Amino acid sequence: MVTVVSMMKTLLCALAAAASASAAALAGDITAVRFGEHPDYTRIVIETDQPVEFRAFALSEPAARLVVQFDQAGWDVGALPAGAGRGVGPVGSFRFDENASAPRLVFTLTRPFMVRESFGLDPADGGYRTVIDIEPVSEAAFERTSGFPAQTLTLDDIIMEEVGAAPQCEVARIVIDPGHGGRDPGATARFGGGHEKDVNLAAGLILRDLLNATGRYEVIMTRDTDVFVELEDRVGIAREARADLFISLHADSAGDNSGPRGATVYSMNHRAADRSRTRAIREGDWVDTNRPEEVTRILVEMALANKEGESEVFAEALRTEVGRTARLWRDQPMQANFAVLTDGSTPSVLFEMGFLTNREDAQRLNDPREQRRLMQAAMAAIESRFGRCADGEPSPRYIAQAGGSRSTR
Ligand SMILES: [Zn+2]
Repeated sequence: MVTVVSMMKTLLCALAAAASASAAALAGDITAVRFGEHPDYTRIVIETDQPVEFRAFALSEPAARLVVQFDQAGWDVGALPAGAGRGVGPVGSFRFDENASAPRLVFTLTRPFMVRESFGLDPADGGYRTVIDIEPVSEAAFERTSGFPAQTLTLDDIIMEEVGAAPQCEVARIVIDPGHGGRDPGATARFGGGHEKDVNLAAGLILRDLLNATGRYEVIMTRDTDVFVELEDRVGIAREARADLFISLHADSAGDNSGPRGATVYSMNHRAADRSRTRAIREGDWVDTNRPEEVTRILVEMALANKEGESEVFAEALRTEVGRTARLWRDQPMQANFAVLTDGSTPSVLFEMGFLTNREDAQRLNDPREQRRLMQAAMAAIESRFGRCADGEPSPRYIAQAGGSRSTR
């Protein structure tokens, strides 16, 4: 335990930087992409309607590309509805890839280049601006500086090296369980939307497609149509598949009370985790009041994670990711005795995506764009845990990297 603690301390700076930035992150839509040619550099300006977090890096294979990856972003450029356009100077073309593990803009370059500078700017006339200046460099320099962001330590690394709870995965098997279905509608439709079963299924299918698009996951659905499936059968599907993760999607109801809103993540095995957390915090030296509470929680969770704690580790990752894009009803670990979470053999979470009894939530939950945002958050959490299975590129989400930045208000 001593080694874990000391290692945690050395990691603090990197993680705190990554996590504190994330706490203020908002989801934005890209509304314009512009270019400026200068004698010795080319400026790329990406306009968004909200401040966004981004990471810019160069890739050399199969062609020179600049990748600008966003934590959350949609595409809303009226003049370019297809999400692609032409560049100027060394930028041949660009396209928006919404189906990557994180939304990204990919610029194809006609010559070797390097990112000179990247930063965010407050709105002037238009929206928030993400600015990336690139300059031409030699082939050799390009080869040296391109590649996925230099990997330091990810959540996976820490869990793998220090806690030993990393999944043994060649291909991670993810079971997606859209709650209810068929004769069981779940929470009743309100405000002109669908029943809970419909919302759950729509979200589940989006998550399935996001995972399948990577080619690195085996995705199993407990249902992919409007049919009724017994709870025991849902759990059985995960057990038989020897799934690495079981994620059950639901929408909450607060009866006649339209007040409660926001998402909640439940995981099994809370009691043990809660006891350990309390003890760790009491023992003291990990808790730093200057550190965001979220980081403390993550650190404690990581250090305490073990085979039984995998649900909780994933739940925390999911909570963090969802908190970037949506309101959380309870931003803390929640204990649950849902039938789908009682099977101890599969790390399991139950994701209540919001309240159908709240007008705003109901509208969000029935909006395909919002469904996608929410599922991209789930995807990011899955990638943070399993992204390295099947020789995947490490998820850049938790990598503290100098090239990243966040536009400010
Ligand atoms: Zn439900």
